[in-house]
Amino acid sequence: MSQTRVAPAGARDAHAVCRLGDRGAAVFDLRVALTSTGDAEAAGARPDQSIDPLVFDLPVQQAVRAFQQRRGLVADGVVGPETARALAAARWRLGDRILAHIPGHLLHGDDVADLQSRLLGLGLGPDRVDAVFGPRTEAAVRDFQRGIGLPGDGIVGPDTLRGLAGLRRAVRGGNPHALRERETLRRAGRSLVGRTILLDPGHGGPDLGCVANGVVEADLVLDLARRVEGRLLAQGVDVLFSRIHGDGGDETVRSALANDLAADLVISLHCDAAAQAQASGIATYYYGTDRFGAWSVVGEHLADLIQRELVARTGMIDCRSHARSWTLLQRTEMPAVRVEVGHVSNPTDAARLSDPALRDVMAEAIVVAIQRLYLGDEDSVRTGVFRLAELRSFMADLAG
Ligand SMILES: [Zn+2]
Repeated sequence: MSQTRVAPAGARDAHAVCRLGDRGAAVFDLRVALTSTGDAEAAGARPDQSIDPLVFDLPVQQAVRAFQQRRGLVADGVVGPETARALAAARWRLGDRILAHIPGHLLHGDDVADLQSRLLGLGLGPDRVDAVFGPRTEAAVRDFQRGIGLPGDGIVGPDTLRGLAGLRRAVRGGNPHALRERETLRRAGRSLVGRTILLDPGHGGPDLGCVANGVVEADLVLDLARRVEGRLLAQGVDVLFSRIHGDGGDETVRSALANDLAADLVISLHCDAAAQAQASGIATYYYGTDRFGAWSVVGEHLADLIQRELVARTGMIDCRSHARSWTLLQRTEMPAVRVEVGHVSNPTDAARLSDPALRDVMAEAIVVAIQRLYLGDEDSVRTGVFRLAELRSFMADLAG
């Protein structure tokens, strides 16, 4: 970690304006700043590229414009307070300094923006990348730290940086499984036609699953699976079931079935039950271990999509999506998601689940989430507002 940094031009006096024709030490600092952002080189504005590095000449102006353009600032070639601030921010790279929430003196910089975008990529807050280390960023850092087994102190030091770096390798390059999974998804294209999806209603046969408040889990999830099936069939998907009449076997048997059938996805449907009747809501699970290592990137994405669609459409409590190393999730060679559609032990959840209309809403939510998975990240269709028919016409528009 290097702690020494040359103060960028303008940082000494936030109101100083520096423009063509100016001369002084601030211009030298400006050249250094523009060199570190990569804008000086092409313009010939590096300090060593000039006869008089203290003069704000045309190459410097050109470099300032290039910087402003990249940052979405007014490209006037003048270093006013805004450009000076942006230059100051641009000089920080993640790892240059320790990051923490300091009330009254919020840290600001590209390193904070980088941190925020990585946290967002993990599904942790803050709600946007604003390059300012505020309380929401601190909360997200704490979540991340606890997730990787560090004390949740909210301070981004060497251990947290190592955790972030390891994770990035796993997501972006070092994890062959994740890469393969993404590549398979990308190659598959955007249509559901011809895909094979295994629906896995939990329990079955003598195993009724959770039974409470008049709801029998095994029956309910089979009914829900049937509703999902109809919608998937209409989209040209080959739908398979892990069980319809029999008991379906344990999770080892079910995951082996999914692998033998070479399904593209597995959706496992369950209900939850808790000792306390107050516990309620929907949760989704994908394969992953607590520590970094293997986990299903696509599974995580799909779990998140299903979770969001279900919560947005039903208004039920959001118990979020979580990584688990349960047998079915771990042994399946394709992305698998387990959905817990509510708590049968909660009278309100149970009453809602008993309503076939709600199960239709849930089925639609699950199918829309699957469709969104294949639409890819780059398409932003708002969650919870599209009906299947609309989504299909949206797809048709994309195709045409
Ligand atoms: Zn269950």
